Amino acid sequence: NNEKVNGPIAGSVTRGKESGWDDNIGYFIKKRLSVWCRLPNGKWDLGKIEETLGDEATISLLSGTVVKVSTAELLPANPDILEGVDDLMQLSYLNEPSVLHNIKHRYAQDLIYSKAGPVLIAVNPFKEIPIYGNEILTSYKQKAKDSPHVYAIADAAYNEMMRDEKNQSIILSGESGAGKTETAKYVMQYLAALGCGNDSMGYEILQTNFILQAFGNAKTSRNNNSSRFGKLIEIHFTASGKIHGAKIQTFLLEKSRVVQLANDERSYHIFYQLCAGAPSTLRDRLNLRMASEYKYLNQSECLVVDGVDDGMEFHKLVDALDVVQICKEDQEQAFAMLAAVLWLGNISFQVIDNENHVEVFTNEAVENAARLINCRAQDLMLALSTHKIQAGNDFIAKKLTMQKAIDRRDALAKFIYTRLFEWLVVQINKSVKVGELSTGRSISILDIYGFESFKNNSFEQFCINYANERLQQHFNRHLFKLEQEEYEEDGIDWTKVDFEDNQECLNLFEKKPLGGRAFGVCHYAGEVAYDTNGFLEKNRDPMHSEFIHLLSSSGCQLPKPASLSCQSGGLESSMQSVATKFKSQLFKLMHQLEKTTPHFIRCIKPNAKQFPGLYEDDLVSQQLQCCGVLEVVRISRYGYPTRMTHQEFAGRYGFLLKETNLSWDPLSMSVAILKKINFLPDMYEVGCTKVYLRMGQIERLEEQRKQF
Ligand code: ATP
Ligand code: MG
Repeated sequence: NNEKVNGPIAGSVTRGKESGWDDNIGYFIKKRLSVWCRLPNGKWDLGKIEETLGDEATISLLSGTVVKVSTAELLPANPDILEGVDDLMQLSYLNEPSVLHNIKHRYAQDLIYSKAGPVLIAVNPFKEIPIYGNEILTSYKQKAKDSPHVYAIADAAYNEMMRDEKNQSIILSGESGAGKTETAKYVMQYLAALGCGNDSMGYEILQTNFILQAFGNAKTSRNNNSSRFGKLIEIHFTASGKIHGAKIQTFLLEKSRVVQLANDERSYHIFYQLCAGAPSTLRDRLNLRMASEYKYLNQSECLVVDGVDDGMEFHKLVDALDVVQICKEDQEQAFAMLAAVLWLGNISFQVIDNENHVEVFTNEAVENAARLINCRAQDLMLALSTHKIQAGNDFIAKKLTMQKAIDRRDALAKFIYTRLFEWLVVQINKSVKVGELSTGRSISILDIYGFESFKNNSFEQFCINYANERLQQHFNRHLFKLEQEEYEEDGIDWTKVDFEDNQECLNLFEKKPLGGRAFGVCHYAGEVAYDTNGFLEKNRDPMHSEFIHLLSSSGCQLPKPASLSCQSGGLESSMQSVATKFKSQLFKLMHQLEKTTPHFIRCIKPNAKQFPGLYEDDLVSQQLQCCGVLEVVRISRYGYPTRMTHQEFAGRYGFLLKETNLSWDPLSMSVAILKKINFLPDMYEVGCTKVYLRMGQIERLEEQRKQF
């Protein structure tokens, strides 16, 4: 399926093709109905069939132009009355141009949300639209509004958690810049507003977004506020449905960004915020300069982001740190570590012999870095430029060559930064900790980097795409496989809908060496070629004993890295490879998600320029293809999204029966209830263990229940 990413989306065209369409062309000619016609440039246009001759059709396009195309390039268009429907399920013809057109039509009217059966599609508007805030939030809460919206998804998750007493998850996916993080914030905003028992807790949880964003987001070429880590936030509720804590897990922070930047990209926001916003007393204590004076920041010639005032952001950050109760002393320590990282980047080396061995250049950079780390400059210099080798019972310090020394310096900077990030997550978690009253009831929100395919793909893309493959499997399994299996097991007649399982691809990721300098993987979303250069080094992520010694003996208080203390089992875990750690993190995550009822939000990026109002057909269709939206709609259209055991169903809606016969078993009760409410026969199915309802039917029952 390697043409999926870049080529025309042939796969979905055939899959989207309506069965029996070929026989229907005559009807479309007779009734002069609209058709989609694929022009030689690959674009779809609306027109009417004038006549056909063998396989060739003459089409008059809306613009008036007449073209001749093969009938294979035609697909039925939907009647005007269905233009811009809010759920793709309502379309009579479900093919790619119809879906694309529908979403585009809505987008042009700022209707950025649509449903694809149970999945919410969110198209990034790249501008503010007045569809958020308290008033709108309240109308979703009171069910006065039911058009597709992120609030409606949050509301559904909340209600299902309360009703079924089952944990929920909201899984956001989409490529970089598609709007996952923004959308996740609206989910959290909604939940905070719904479940604000302890006011400050909801607020505290919202503030954690801001902090993690400062330390874990950066400007990239794709997104000015790109999350460079994955995040799962589990929001916990009391029995009465009030928020009372949260648990945050992060995944795979991109650490290379601390020391190396692509042109026009920035390092983590926090560095620029600190340099621009630190008050003068703090500046003096940290010997802080402007961002432009630090090599780690100035290498990409990109120091500012349009429309962002880093100085102001710094003040907001400090406020947020106060809210999550990180004390001033710890805050200052954290800032000192950031300054230490910046000064490390300014440390340079000089060659001292003809074997390219180096020594650290003694200047203010090394003095400042050492002071901030709280160690002796001499020790830091040794740790950066020598390698200890054991000879008998003695250790000999062997000088490093230039590149090794630079790598060593960068490794220390990355190490300090990642430990600072981990420390921060631990502190935040302490502050929003779920208390003793925990019911275990929660909604988890997963915001994880989308599928990546660049010209050059390295270890980072390998890990990210592996994660996406796993999530895609979860999505597939949930929506397709489980669905079919369940119907079959319960004795329901079910016409199979094919779906592509990606287990084989996952097996490939999980098996031993692939060999060679490069390899390609056919992902669900397209083929990616990986360059293995540097893979092993990145995977091993060596932490030199010199640093461990240096940092553990330094007076440095704060990122007393967890992995430096043997008691916490840290050293052991730091010896695992990055991929092994990530793999087990992912297994744990999937296991956690499998215990929840998932809600999926697919974010779509309508153009690569981050412009409002620009909708690029090709880009959107690629993304729809990557996330299997068409298949989801098909399955939901035929399927039964609501299912309840006969016990649950009879228990909840038994009140509808005036007289019940005590000898009735739950199945007979269910049948009696369904008769009573007069559902059309094809709106439900009765299985051996469960009742299955079509889309929209449960709402009818709930309505009656409310009136009762
Ligand atoms: P990444 O994978 O790089 O982290 P992302 O999918 O999380 O990307 P966001 O950071 O959420 O993308 O969105 C990118 C930008 O798009 C935001 O900074 C904002 O400007 C805009 N945006 C996203 N969603 C909305 C929205 N609902 N309304 C207005 N603007 C939005
Ligand atoms: Mg993001």
